[in-house]
Amino acid sequence: MGCMEPLTPLEQALHAARALVLADLVAGRVAEADVVSLVEDSVARRRWWVEQWPDGMRYVAGLVAQDVQDALLERYGRWPLCPVCAFGDPHALDVEPELGPDPHWVCHQAGVKVAAVGSLGSAVGGAPSS
Ligand SMILES: [Zn+2]
Repeated sequence: MGCMEPLTPLEQALHAARALVLADLVAGRVAEADVVSLVEDSVARRRWWVEQWPDGMRYVAGLVAQDVQDALLERYGRWPLCPVCAFGDPHALDVEPELGPDPHWVCHQAGVKVAAVGSLGSAVGGAPSS
């Protein structure tokens, strides 16, 4: 019974958001147990949020990424660090759109999209040279 039931769209969206943000944390080598719990906290909060506003379901991945970014800033410092700029002070990437589907990490200093949320691993260590 229970385990054969298909996930609801909400659970699918939350699962996807969790997986995407964890992939980016792994790419930045910060996916430690207490950091993973920050993701769980955010997913739990966003579940409540989407239940109040179902249209926000598509925005969950970008919101979880921003929640985790904020939580890490308080405890650890900036994340994710920009892998594109080889000069200047280390700086974090931002999620764009802040509230929208298909979120990306962008560097505002270089004015570039670095990677989709969940794909930071392919950008780290293989920074575009243009
Ligand atoms: Zn940058």
